[in-house]
This record gives sequence, structure tokens and C-alpha cells, in this order.
Amino acid sequence: MQEYLFSEVCGWISCKSIINKDVRFSNVITDSRTVSIPSKSLFVAISGMNHNGHDYISSLYQQGVRCFLVEEDFDFSVGLDEANFLVVKNTLQAFQQLAEKKRRTYDCPVIGITGSNGKTIVKEWISQLVGNSMSVARSPKSYNSQIGVPLSVWQMDGHTELGVFEAGISKRGEMEIIAPIISPTIGVLTNVGAAHQENFVSQQEKLQEKMMLFEGCECIIFGSDSTMIRHEMYNKYPCKRFFMWGRGVDADLQVLYKKDHGTGMLIGLKYNSVEYDVLIPFSDDVSFENALGAVSALLVLGFSMEYISGMIQKLVPVAMRMELKEGINNCIVINDSYNSDLSSLALSLAFLVQQSRGKTEQRTLILSDIYQSGMDDHSLCVQINDLLKQVGVSKLLGVGSILKSHAHLFHLDAIFYDSTDELLQNVVPNSFKNEAILIKGSRNFGFEKVASVLEMKHHQTCLEINLNALVDNLNYYRSKLNDNTKILAMVKAFGYGSGSFEIANVLQHQKVDYLGVAFADEGVELRKAGISLPIIVMNPEVKSFPVMLMHHLEPELYGFKVLDQFVQVLAQEGIRNYPVHIKLDTGMNRLGFVHDEGERLFEILKSSPEIGVKSCFSHLVGSEDVGLDEFTKSQIDRFCEFTSRMEAILGYSFIKHILNSAGILRFPQAQLDMVRLGIGMYGVGGSDQVALKPVTRFKSFISQIKSVKAHETIGYNRKGELGYDGQIAIVPVGYADGLNRRLGNGVGRVMVNGQGAHIVGNICMDMCMVDVTGLLAEEGGEVEIFGPYNPVENMAEALGTIPYEVFTSISRRVKRIYYYE
Ligand SMILES: *Cc1c(COP(=O)(O)O)cnc(C)c1O
Repeated sequence: MQEYLFSEVCGWISCKSIINKDVRFSNVITDSRTVSIPSKSLFVAISGMNHNGHDYISSLYQQGVRCFLVEEDFDFSVGLDEANFLVVKNTLQAFQQLAEKKRRTYDCPVIGITGSNGKTIVKEWISQLVGNSMSVARSPKSYNSQIGVPLSVWQMDGHTELGVFEAGISKRGEMEIIAPIISPTIGVLTNVGAAHQENFVSQQEKLQEKMMLFEGCECIIFGSDSTMIRHEMYNKYPCKRFFMWGRGVDADLQVLYKKDHGTGMLIGLKYNSVEYDVLIPFSDDVSFENALGAVSALLVLGFSMEYISGMIQKLVPVAMRMELKEGINNCIVINDSYNSDLSSLALSLAFLVQQSRGKTEQRTLILSDIYQSGMDDHSLCVQINDLLKQVGVSKLLGVGSILKSHAHLFHLDAIFYDSTDELLQNVVPNSFKNEAILIKGSRNFGFEKVASVLEMKHHQTCLEINLNALVDNLNYYRSKLNDNTKILAMVKAFGYGSGSFEIANVLQHQKVDYLGVAFADEGVELRKAGISLPIIVMNPEVKSFPVMLMHHLEPELYGFKVLDQFVQVLAQEGIRNYPVHIKLDTGMNRLGFVHDEGERLFEILKSSPEIGVKSCFSHLVGSEDVGLDEFTKSQIDRFCEFTSRMEAILGYSFIKHILNSAGILRFPQAQLDMVRLGIGMYGVGGSDQVALKPVTRFKSFISQIKSVKAHETIGYNRKGELGYDGQIAIVPVGYADGLNRRLGNGVGRVMVNGQGAHIVGNICMDMCMVDVTGLLAEEGGEVEIFGPYNPVENMAEALGTIPYEVFTSISRRVKRIYYYE
């Protein structure tokens, strides 16, 4: 990697600099958890919505980082004697400018990819097709944002012969900033669909914004069968060279036919008047489009069709996400089989640390050799060892000849194997217990086999939880809040069915202020998993008081009896000023003190030094219901009146909160000191639905497909009948999994290959039957019960209930899979 003298880089942008001891650096990092080579890194301190990078500078300094890009208000007084600083107004902008400067020093071809879907796959496939014939620098994972693009481009160095970078935008004005950083010579437009549509007026507007990436390109690649795309391209860039692929005769790469071929697809292509039959190892249309985008890019680069058709058969799918699953013997297993390199290893290790339950849990890494690291094997292994030490990995299982031949460089409990098969023959799965295990392998090591040995085997119906979407939703609500309003995230009822500590870990990392659970047990589970955030228990029971004190859980006190009992327990223990939360009933007629009880309550609170009121709150009856707005306002008024009296009498102030998810969006004037976010975080938001992302996907698969005659009956009690000759699919999900039995007999529907399929007959305990007549469906194929394509609201409506009940009815036997895209 190209190294720069710190003092030299200072001259690239206008800034103030403080140089204590000039050093060279090569890497740039923005996430404090992902330093792989501290002494060679420049840390860009970005103040984001949930994190302020400046807070991590001291600890990075301790780890050996010496170069920092910081904002003007950073406090330089803390003793960082050997640190160097670039001081600017806005660190993100400055970093973008640095990357742009760096980019201009290289004149190799650079491919810039944009579009709604498929960017990462096209990028990876171009790189797979190029193979070893060029040295490629490309975006790690799907780094395509305002921060991801400069990080990606920074990877270029003097050896780079081709850059392949993706650019993603979610609102107007963003492409203008990242386009010059990539400054592509070749542009690729992938599929333009409805993803990230919410901030654009129309699909056309979004397309125009994306096309700004191509401003400086010598050639633009796109599918010419879309009239809108063609029209916009000819309009905006009448003089540029286009390379079009499609069915039309004017396409540069013309598609003559495509047909199924075993598990793949045979495509007839015409290029430069010569016809070719090309086999691709995928059978779906999306892969077909992505493959043609990648093939076109190679043709533009000057590769021959013969070379490409040889390589394309070897394309492999792109693992887009890092998965967290429940493992055997109370382990958790994180499987990241994305191309292995040092920076993505650092990212996955950060996730391992975040998800470990408690500081003492053993962290284990199963790692394969890393190729194309750009450094010699010795330095590579030294750096891996440093990284493992930093994040507290205590056991390493290394696979491959590089790691094995450098075994002496690893100073931790480590065993090495020549191959994955050797590893599998020698490890006893049951020797893994209560550990957090990260499995990280280059693709050709076939680490899926290792994962499948260590993961708990449940039946294959599962609930997938998209942690990026959860964070995006959290940030959406956050963007609606005043600066000082705190967030309490509700994770009661097993995190609305999505999982407890896995979700809580993410929320803790995202710096929410409080967590809320229904019962003490749920709080204890979180504490055992290492959650240190304050936790409110909404339904404290007398017999759980001791365990609550032990785990520092804070009770909601809703009546005189529970108040008195809690004070007594504290008095016995000699505890004073224990944080409690007073619940008011302003109209729900559920738990809570009522208006008339005020004076007596205030007296007791004043005369009980054992407790301190940390917050006072009430719950709205129908914040989502326009018809109840008058009532909601009266609840808010009653609450404010009560709490101001209470503060006056107690003589101190406390946190006041009344809004739930719907309330946050509909009654912004009542944010007060804190809000309680629940269902919205999980992606259900009523009128603001479009801005939220579905977090959970309940899915299963087809065990079998059967033909049935029109009047044959299906399932128990002969209730199901198609009425025509057709096909049914048997799906292993039943009412014991949480698929409500009332959804049988045509009431509910599931999605099969993006097509709706009704449930026929009675739902059984462990399976159900769906009508797939005329649909594209195959045994083993996926079925979405609810999720992004089949909104949970539909299922709730068919049942005459609300999404809350659907979420929390999913049985615990359904495996939860967490992932980051
Ligand atoms: C569950 C709950 C919430 C969250 O409600 P949502 O509608 O899911 O946002 C807030 N406050 C209390 C007291 C709750 O019990």
C-alpha cells in the first residue's frame, strides 16, 4: 500500500496541522474498531448521529495510532504527545477531498458502478472475471456511501491496474460529492428499481441523479431494453460512447436467446457480428442481468469473448452478509465467508466483540489463509496476531499453508491445519462450549462445512433479522427528535419476537439511553449477556426484587403497594437513592398512579430516601389513531400537569416521557426528555411506513410439490379443495411455529418466488399446504411467510389483529438468524 508522510498530506487540502513527530501512514480508518495496522493508520474522526469519532482518539493513541484528522473543536489538551493532527471544519468533507486528491494521481482504468440493485454483485463479478490478469482495487463489501467511497478509493496504489468501485445514494446532492472521488473512466448502470425511492420525487429523478456519476466517463455501459434509461442517456450524454447490452439489434452485446440449462442458463450472444453460446452458472433473471453488466465491462476493457466465456462458468455467488446463528453447546456462531482480507477481518472481529455475551466470554476465530493482502506472509501474520490480541481473541484455528508455516508468530492458544478437510477430521464439535466463534474464510476454503458443523440444527423455518434495517429505523426516529431527547428502546417480549441480547447489543452499540423489558427475567438475561445500559422493568414482581437489585434493574412503580414493598427491600439492604420510574395512569386504566393519588404519592416519595425518582412516565392509549387525537392531547396535558406538580414538591427534576413509536411521529411537541421506541424500530410505522425498512423475514421452504385433482381434498378434516387440477406445495411451518391456524383455508397467503400463494386447507401443527398452481415453484425453494415482499401488516389484517401480536407469536423454536448486509 502506498505510504505518505503526514506532513506531505497536510498540503493536499486547506487545513491547520499539528505535527509532533512526522510519520508515514498508508491506511485510513473511520471506524475505531477496525484498526488493523495502528502505526500505519490515519484515523478520521467523524461525528455521526450515534457516535462521535473524537471520543475514541485516546484509546486509538494507546493502540499506536499517531495520525488523526479532527474537527476544530477537538480538545487537544489531553496528553497525546506524539500524535499528529490535521484540523478542519468538517472531517468527512476533508476526507473526501483527500481521497479525490489521491485518486487523481492514478491513471489506470476505473469502473464506477451505480444503480438500485446489483452494484455489489456486478463489482464482485467483474473482479472474479478479471481474475489474476490485472491487479484490481475494489470497494470492500458494499462500501458505496459518502464514507464508503473514499475508503474504497483509498485502496488504490501504484500496483493497481484497475479500480472497480460502487456508488450508492439515498438522496439528492450525494452523487455530486462522490462522483469526482471515483472519477470513473468506464461507467456501469445496473438495474434501476424502487430501492431507496423515498427521498426522490420519481424514478426518473433518481436515475438522473445516479447518472451524474458518468460525467467524466469515456464509455457508459447499460441495458438498452429499458426505454426510460435509453431516453435519459441519449438526452444527458448525446456525445458519449455507449456500450449497450440487450435484445435490440442496436445493442453492442446482443442477447439472441436464453434458456435453462441444468442448474444454470445458456445464453446466445452476438458481439462484433460473431455469435457465441455462453453458459452461466445461475438460472435467475437478476443474475442474468448482473452477469451481462459484468461481461460488458470486460469487453470494454478489451478482454476477448473467448476468455470471458471460459471465466464466466466459474462465477460464484457473492456472500453479501455476515450471519449470526445460535451454535451448539450455547455457542454463538458468526459466519462471514465474504472474500477474506485484513480490513474485512477487522470488521468481522468488531462484530464478534459486539456480539460476545459479557467481557469474559471466550472468543474463538476459525480463519483461513488470506490472499492478495499486498504484503509478505510474515508481516501479514504478525498483523493478524496483533489484531487478535487487540480484540481479545483467545483461541485460533488456522487453516492453510501460510498460517501453518508461520505458526510461531501467533501468541495465543492456536492450532493449525493444512486444509479444511483436515480441520473437519480433527476437531470434535462438542469441544466448543459457551464461546463466541467467528468463522472467516476465503471462499475456496469451503468454510460453509465448518459452519454447518457448529451451528445448531433446527428445522429450516427461520426468522431472519436484518440488523442494518434495525439501525436505519432507529436513526429515522432519531432524526425526528430534538437534540436532548433521550431514547428508551423497548425490547420486551424477546425484542418483539426478534431476539433479546442480539438486539440489545446492537442498540447498546448505537448508544440508545435506556432499554425497557416487561419482566425481571428478561433484564437478567440481558445483564448476563453483558448489556450495561440502564434497564427499566415494566412489571416488577415482589419476588423478583432481590434479583433486580443484584443486576441493577430499575423498576416501574405503579401503585402504593409495590412502592411500599420495594422501599422495604431497599431499607433491609441499606440501599439509598435507588433509581425508580413512576408510572402514571392518564387514561389507559391499566397500571399506574391516578390523578387523585398525587399528594399521597409525593409525600411518600419525599420521605423515602431509599429511592430516587429517575423518571416519570405515562402511556398513550391510541397515539396512532387520528380519531383519538383529542384524547391523546388530554393525556399529554394531564401528564404535564402532574409531573410539574411532582417536580415542584420533590424539589428535583427527573426524566419525563410519554411517547411511543407512533406518538414520536404524530406528537413531536410532546417529546419531553425521552421517548419510548418500540414497534417502529422493528419496521412497522403506520403512516410513515415508506420511510421504514422491514427488519424481520419469517421464511421457510418447500418440502414437496404434489399434483392434486380438482375435487380431491387437502389436509385434516377434508377442508381444503382447489376446485381445479393443480399443484400444492407442502411447507414445514405450522401453528406450533406461530403460523396462526386461522390463516388456513384461503385466509392467509405466503410468497413463493415473489408470487402470492394461498394457504389451502387447515394449517397443521408443523406444516401447511399452499396452492402453487401456475406459479414458478420448485422443491427446496424459499417461501416468505412475511417480510419485505409480504408485509406483516397483511397477515395481521387477515387475522384481525395487529403486527405486535404476529411478531410475538412466532415460537421460540423458530431459529433466529441475524445479519448485516
Ligand atoms: C411497549 C411499550 C412501548 C412501545 O410501544 P410501541 O407502540 O411499540 O412503540 C412504550 N411504552 C410502554 C409503556 C410500553 O409498554
